[in-house]
Amino acid sequence: MSKIARRKFIQLSAAAAAGCLVHPGREAIAQDLPHLTEDDPMASAMKYTHDASTVDPATRANPAPDQICANCALLQGDDGDEWRPCQIFVGKLVNSKGWCSVWAPKA
Ligand code: SF4
Repeated sequence: MSKIARRKFIQLSAAAAAGCLVHPGREAIAQDLPHLTEDDPMASAMKYTHDASTVDPATRANPAPDQICANCALLQGDDGDEWRPCQIFVGKLVNSKGWCSVWAPKA
């Protein structure tokens, strides 16, 4: 292996190792986000609740049954986690059993 090829190999290896170290850190940061509160002004505007079973289905704009954050297209993060990021409430975690008026079915 030439000196230049060895140097390039070392640089690429270091970059790959750095990428492996960054990913777990990003996961940890997501789980460290604060939980969205129901009295948050934006949560109130979107009728967010931690417990979707408290919402009268007749009041929903979208009549699809079984609407909870866990089956919403806008929920992010890992299946099974109780609190997960949501594309609507950036920087906060929503409850997987929650609901808001922006609920959208997964494709
Ligand atoms: Fe839950 Fe979807 Fe509303 Fe986010 S947009 S709070 S995941 S129902």
